[in-house]
Amino acid sequence: MIDNVHHQHSTSHEPQHDTPDAANSTPTPSTTPPPTSTAEPPGADRPPEADALIPVRMLNEFTYCPRLGYLEWVQGEWADNLETRQGTFGHRHVDKPDRKSISAPKEPADAEKQDGDVIHARSIMLAADQEELLAKLDLLEIDGDRATPVDYKRGKAPDIPEGAYEPERVQLCAQGLVLRENGYACDEGVLYFIGSRRRVVIPFDDELIARTRQLVQQFRETARAGAIPPPLDDSPKCPRCSLVGICLPDETNLLREAATADTPPTKDGLRRLLPSRNDALPMYVQDQGVMIGKSGDRLTVKQKGEQLSSSRLIDVSQVSVFGNVMFSAPALRELTIRGIPVCHFTYGGWFHGITSGLTHKNVELRIRQYATAADPAGSLDIARRLIMGKIRNARTLLRRHLGDREAPVLRQLNEYHRRAGHAPTAETLLGLEGMAAKEYFAAFFTLLSGRHEFDVNGRNRRPPRDPVNAVLSFVYSLLVKELTVTLQAVGFDPMLGFFHTPRYGRPSLALDLSEEFRPLVADSVVMTVFNNGEVTGDAFIERAGAVTLTDAGRRSVIAAFERRLETEITHPIFGYRICYRRILEVQARLLARCVLGELHEYPSFCTR
Ligand code: SF4
Repeated sequence: MIDNVHHQHSTSHEPQHDTPDAANSTPTPSTTPPPTSTAEPPGADRPPEADALIPVRMLNEFTYCPRLGYLEWVQGEWADNLETRQGTFGHRHVDKPDRKSISAPKEPADAEKQDGDVIHARSIMLAADQEELLAKLDLLEIDGDRATPVDYKRGKAPDIPEGAYEPERVQLCAQGLVLRENGYACDEGVLYFIGSRRRVVIPFDDELIARTRQLVQQFRETARAGAIPPPLDDSPKCPRCSLVGICLPDETNLLREAATADTPPTKDGLRRLLPSRNDALPMYVQDQGVMIGKSGDRLTVKQKGEQLSSSRLIDVSQVSVFGNVMFSAPALRELTIRGIPVCHFTYGGWFHGITSGLTHKNVELRIRQYATAADPAGSLDIARRLIMGKIRNARTLLRRHLGDREAPVLRQLNEYHRRAGHAPTAETLLGLEGMAAKEYFAAFFTLLSGRHEFDVNGRNRRPPRDPVNAVLSFVYSLLVKELTVTLQAVGFDPMLGFFHTPRYGRPSLALDLSEEFRPLVADSVVMTVFNNGEVTGDAFIERAGAVTLTDAGRRSVIAAFERRLETEITHPIFGYRICYRRILEVQARLLARCVLGELHEYPSFCTR
């Protein structure tokens, strides 16, 4: 059977009012829209070389918020939201490029459409080396040697004296500068607002030209410096920004302030700008010999030609397959194009591979990850925090479930937590982690009801020799899979860690990040399935001393694991409600901020 864990959730990001912001020194009108009128994700652009021309739409982003420009152009980040999708839809006609040649100034014209003496040409790409700009023009109106760029914008024309907000005016003016360098006379441009079907003429006066060139210069210097600009402070721009879930503006500001403050960070008043959960969810397939195919915009699962199930691709975040499951070429192609990873498990539940599209474009993060991993001190700093988080969470789980709040194991784990914070070497840290795990598991096994049915003498793995260890191993495998997918999406190389040493075929960084979540997610699932009777003795098979789950047993554990990941809790630092799956992503992004030097130390995720 197919375990297709799909639920529908609301992720409404309603536009909110904007106010002037600190993105630049020129006052910004009070309802600046986010720069989402561009129709093509910047993934199509490259991480820039030092002398690369700046795309004018990136200049729009930089004008709106310097951090946004940096994230998109330098780090190659991209995310869709409602407004970017509306922008793409609004551009669907102007983005069809003309196939005919466009005349240079003062040459006979021959373009697709003529309106009197005015030539209209769409989707034109032009470069200007002197201005250091690259422009893709939605529409170009050419009248002799005079050219007018027309830029399409989602939404309605704002009712302000300037006719449009600064990011749009700067972007248009940059297009004008590109046209001038290419020999055209260009004194004004037009913003066409799709929502109100209105053309707004923007004159390219000296002030706008100077401001545009100033921003080009600032953007160039920011990119060359290689330091991401800080997030805007409590800005109304952020809720409308498509990269808010990547940028984490309020979270980053809070943690940076906390690093220099005497008092711990407060959780009061932090806005939750990212969805508490995802719309799309994983699909699990463990029937042997089935074929996953594509039919229209759905994934189908068939056995001997008979369809067992189907799911809308838009509802699928990842596909996990166990053992002998096949894919059609169109299905696999569609999954990679959409960035939906396929996770491969052995029939026994061992996670051993992932199929994904072209890797994330955040090359800067990977370079810093490799440098940090090669630096023993830098790696140890992060590893300490990961292991401290693990021990703290293990202690919290025991404290909540052991009847005795004075149990010696709690004191002992406190002590290991303290010593982990000062571990002088990776070897010492490894030893402390091992001792803490031994104490923890001895107590953890006593929390499982019905344990008389199982051999619970301790943790054993390869192979698991009792049902509890079989479930623990399987759930850890699911957790590492989840983190491998998450880390890859964030831009890390999941194979290179800071605590787990590299080993062939081992996603060391996913194992690193799993440490703090083992008690919270994995061990919690194990307690649930045993104590609620969701798996019983007939969910296991024993062969030559090794114990594995049956298909039905695995299905029960997967269901409990997915329930746990979808469980919402109040974030202990940020104070908003968020599900565990999103927490995994937030932690991976905070780890990235730490590796990139924006955060002083990695903030472990610890519940209270
Ligand atoms: S979320 Fe806010 S600070 Fe971050 S990039 Fe977007 S506008 Fe800038």
